[in-house]
Amino acid sequence: MSKIDREGPFDCIVVGGGHAGVEASSIVSRAGYSVLLLSLNLDEIAQMSCNPAIGGIAKGHIVREIDALGGLMGQIIDHTGIHYKMLNLSKGSAMWSPRAQADKYQYKQYAKNILENSPNLQLRQDSVCDLIVDSKQNKITGVVTDRGNKYYASHVILTTGTFLKGKIHIGDHTFSGGRIGAQSAERLSGSLEKFGFEVSRLKTGTPPRIHAATMNLNKLEAQEPDKVPQPFSFAFEYDHAALPQKQIPCYITYTTAKTKEIVEKNLLRSALYGGKIKSVGPRYCPSIEDKIVRFADKERHQIFLEPEGLDTNEVYVNGISTSLPEDVQWEIVNSIIGLEDAQIMRPGYAIEYDFCPPTQLHPWLETKKVEGLFFAGQINGTTGYEEAGAQGLMAGYNVIHKIRKMDPLVLGRDEAYIGVLIDDLVTKGVEEPYRMFTSRAEYRLFLRQDNADFRLMKYPHNVGLDRGLYARMQSRYECYNAVKIAIEKTKISEEILVLLGKANIDIQKGLPLSHVFKRPQVPSEISIALFDYITNFDSSFLSEMEKIKLSMDIKYEGYVIREMVKTKRRMEAVEKIIPEDIDYDAINGLKTEAREKLKRVRPVNLGQAARISGVDPSDIDIVLLNISKAAKQNKDVSRKNVLSQSGKVKNEQ
Ligand code: FAD
Repeated sequence: MSKIDREGPFDCIVVGGGHAGVEASSIVSRAGYSVLLLSLNLDEIAQMSCNPAIGGIAKGHIVREIDALGGLMGQIIDHTGIHYKMLNLSKGSAMWSPRAQADKYQYKQYAKNILENSPNLQLRQDSVCDLIVDSKQNKITGVVTDRGNKYYASHVILTTGTFLKGKIHIGDHTFSGGRIGAQSAERLSGSLEKFGFEVSRLKTGTPPRIHAATMNLNKLEAQEPDKVPQPFSFAFEYDHAALPQKQIPCYITYTTAKTKEIVEKNLLRSALYGGKIKSVGPRYCPSIEDKIVRFADKERHQIFLEPEGLDTNEVYVNGISTSLPEDVQWEIVNSIIGLEDAQIMRPGYAIEYDFCPPTQLHPWLETKKVEGLFFAGQINGTTGYEEAGAQGLMAGYNVIHKIRKMDPLVLGRDEAYIGVLIDDLVTKGVEEPYRMFTSRAEYRLFLRQDNADFRLMKYPHNVGLDRGLYARMQSRYECYNAVKIAIEKTKISEEILVLLGKANIDIQKGLPLSHVFKRPQVPSEISIALFDYITNFDSSFLSEMEKIKLSMDIKYEGYVIREMVKTKRRMEAVEKIIPEDIDYDAINGLKTEAREKLKRVRPVNLGQAARISGVDPSDIDIVLLNISKAAKQNKDVSRKNVLSQSGKVKNEQ
């Protein structure tokens, strides 16, 4: 092997083979550039540190977007998913979110195989401890590892996850580690500080894993997977391909009064409550200690028991993340219904780690301080595989764009959840680990998981990485347009009225069929059946999922336009002054987190309010409405005062 092959210069070095690193290294190497991926342990490529699941509320949307953009996460989960479930089915279809449990061993093996078989990509196990920066030009030129190796590149993407000075806590037992069983990276954050980066600290936690054979299935409620699982990847969807893995159930159970008693009795032995952990964790993903303290009135908490794979007996106990000592964790587990004799295989723990506040980044994830250096994933203060994968992919894209001297690729908030994620990070920063929620997106009716291909496939196509899917997407949407036109032309007939009568839908004969789809609460089986009645159109080539998707498109057309108008109004209102004496407690509908932060910061105008992390567009709408109402009331009062002074008020009434 030549020195160039060994040390570089490479077009790009990716540090870290987690979810961000996998996407970043894959996309840059597929674009034809030489990439070196350095990671602490090559057996842990795409390791699922916590929950063995991909997707979920809003996160499922991100995975579909990653897939549409040419990333790997959707494909990997579709090859290794063992329990698919579409969440939020009882809500509007814009809120439907796909989620799947993975066989976590197959997941990481599958990811590693893809990388190993990428022609321009070299994988090496090594620990990066320092950066090489050309200080005159403020440009990255390479990295140094703990073993003294130097590697050179004009672009470096850091995706170090929870590993920078990672400190694990189990009760009062504390030790260094990037996650349990893995060494931490102790020196790299010092190097970042040396180059002028701000480094701060966050924490997160994970629950214990138990042995499946020690659960009492008779006392547990089985949760079956979806009968027709919807794949994450558009390649699977376009081919109507069946998912390869066997689908298995998860189980549901509950904590008891005894669980509560045990936690309360041992609270001070928790690393979190005993004062050992100072950093901030994700409030929306609370530990069992937090749940018992914060929701003291709640008699029980739901627990999901999720298998970690097909060939292992380990089960993830979703809902009891904890930093309590091991003896207490055993007591807690054994106090849960159906787990009276359960054996813990790995304890739960909390972890504190260094991250770099993401306001130090351009919106294309390159650092403002050092040209060519990008950060992606948990190093930016996010939490979650999906958020990490999305950033890795976007950093990768921007390395490609930079090499090709193209403008940076920055997705708009109206284009993708990934656009919202990165915009929030670089403009608002983070005060606690950031995860995606649908409420963070102002255009959520348009940003649906089902239309991610329509929104985003042009980007991989622009850089020659569309895997042949772009043309298929285009003909798909041309065909959808033809169906929509045919639906508009079809008039509601007597036969259609009979069908609608079965669901108690009362509508006038002769109206366009599209009017039915716009009605609230049309059951999906009726929506699907209506496609058989479209005049002069054979829709039999459409799958059930496509029929649902088209009915959603028609249903939300009007809402999407209204949402766009609302957003425009919000943008115009950024200068609007918020009255100093505004009483946030008296405003209905604000999220608790937003209310707390608004009370604390007391922003002077709406623009400042919108930049507060945790204050979402929906909260801004509520504050705007409130200010406008108050202004109108004040105007009315002063008008009345003027009128009463002039003696006219009686006549007015
Ligand atoms: P990671 O997946 O952490 O990967 C980082 C990679 O970088 C690793 O492969 C590591 O070996 C490598 N690396 C690090 N430093 C160096 C270095 N100096 N040199 C070379 N290689 C290096 N997410 C949720 O959504 N919900 C949760 O409840 C949740 N709980 C969690 C609990 C725990 C205990 C942990 C550890 C994580 C949890 N996560 C949770 C977070 C989730 O695991 C991460 O968000 C996600 O894995 C981040 O992806 P990443 O690619 O940024 O980093």
